[in-house]
Amino acid sequence: MAKDFLKDTQDQYDVIVIGSGLAGLTSANILARAGRSVLLLEHHYQLGGMATWFKRQNGHIFDISLHGFPIGMIKSCRKYWTQEIADSIVQLKHIRFENPQFSLETSFDREDFTRIITEKFQVPMETVQRFFDTARGMNFFDDQAKTTRELFQEFFPGRDDVVRLLMEPITYANGSTLEDPAITYGIVFSNFMSKGVYTFQGGTDKLVAQMKAEMEKNGVDIRIRSEVQKIEISPDRRVTGVVVNGKRIGCRSIISNANLKQTIFNLAGPENFDPAFVDEAKAVRLNTSSCQVYIALKPGESFDHCGDLLFHSEHRGFDIESILSRNVSSRTFSFYYPYTRPGHDRYVIVSSTNARYEDWASLSEPDYEAAKQDLIETTLDCLQRYVPNIREQLDHAEASTPRTFQFYTRHLQGSSFGTKFEGLGVSKKLPEQIHGLFHAGSVGIIMSGWLGAVNYGVIVSNDVDKLLTT
Ligand SMILES: Cc1cc2nc3c(=O)[nH]c(=O)nc-3n(C[C@H](O)[C@H](O)[C@H](O)COP(=O)(O)OP(=O)(O)OC[C@H]3O[C@@H](n4cnc5c(N)ncnc54)[C@H](O)[C@@H]3O)c2cc1C
Repeated sequence: MAKDFLKDTQDQYDVIVIGSGLAGLTSANILARAGRSVLLLEHHYQLGGMATWFKRQNGHIFDISLHGFPIGMIKSCRKYWTQEIADSIVQLKHIRFENPQFSLETSFDREDFTRIITEKFQVPMETVQRFFDTARGMNFFDDQAKTTRELFQEFFPGRDDVVRLLMEPITYANGSTLEDPAITYGIVFSNFMSKGVYTFQGGTDKLVAQMKAEMEKNGVDIRIRSEVQKIEISPDRRVTGVVVNGKRIGCRSIISNANLKQTIFNLAGPENFDPAFVDEAKAVRLNTSSCQVYIALKPGESFDHCGDLLFHSEHRGFDIESILSRNVSSRTFSFYYPYTRPGHDRYVIVSSTNARYEDWASLSEPDYEAAKQDLIETTLDCLQRYVPNIREQLDHAEASTPRTFQFYTRHLQGSSFGTKFEGLGVSKKLPEQIHGLFHAGSVGIIMSGWLGAVNYGVIVSNDVDKLLTT
């Protein structure tokens, strides 16, 4: 008989959280810690959403989205999770750029970037300082019409080398482009520049296991393999429950960590919202997706240190079309050494590229498999420059595409970083439309990525707590 993943659930909870991405997990933990009864429903067999990992034969473990986040994650984890989790966050000190315009290594903070831009790129110190101060001073309430392109034009006209240094990592970090609002760039870039790039030592599996233990301690009722089909809404527009795996469970409030558009159009249903809101939600653009190639060396094999993160490109200048193209010329390599996962002696490389869902969606199965194989082969060819014997040392290689991300996280079009900027306003307005319905998860560029998702989970759980108190 099929296992009942919802066995012994209560009939009613204060809060139901749909989805266990970092925002969903954080909301669930904070609300349970505050004494609320919380049910966490995750369709996958593993918690974490995009913050996930998988294992393969011979003891290989691959992290999907553990490439780097800003230092702010330490404080957020300490306050809203545990000291133990915060203590495993360490800096990645070797960030490399290799492209036709420059070859350099940096600690990726303001001091080192200032040195590079003034000394190597010969931009006057005063301009660089003003640029950093402007980016640092940007906030959500600023002019949202100015684009990132215009920001760069103001400070570094005609300098596509400087623009590339400043923009390429941010495009990889959150899928944003030069046409996105400058404030989204300013906020995310400054978060990184304050102290560099950080990672979770021990891997995503360790992080999620620690989060799960903490949620259990705080009393979250956690259910995996539990896909919500419907958010139940009363005629006077209040959430009353969900239908999950065909079972109805009641609640006073819902936090959906599912994709924003999926939440509105598939789970709640557009008929429950004002027509003007529906139009606004329809106009929200999804962010792009990703392809990855996971590469493991044979046990006992190793490579010389070649950086922690390496932004490789064969293209001249920062060009979003080439970054998104299936004809890949730009890749970010994450190198995982034994010190990134203490106790595990393997050398692993993950290559990531931004990608468009539509380039992969319509391929027939044979074409899809061939395209994935081609992606693996071209990635290995490229990697040979940095790990010369990779083909002889290789034990395992496989690829994922936007289709993979859509399958595992239910994100429409496999969007890696939620929505473009306008998604944030729609996400925030959800409870004004339907009493008790909230969304927490990657939206608006600034609320995506590990830190953005955790922090949005914090903000929304505070709103839910207030609602439950009244
Ligand atoms: C390839 C890649 C690399 C990345 N690299 C980085 C990086 O280096 N640094 C960084 O900061 N960020 C990175 N990110 C982004 C980061 O991982 C995400 O922004 C963040 O993890 C998203 O968290 P979230 O809370 O929005 O939820 P998500 O991770 O999107 O999770 C949503 C969850 O909801 C579940 N769900 C959806 N619908 C339902 C339903 N109906 N019922 C039940 N469950 C449901 C899904 O299964 C999923 O578990 C990367 C992302 C990708 C794809």
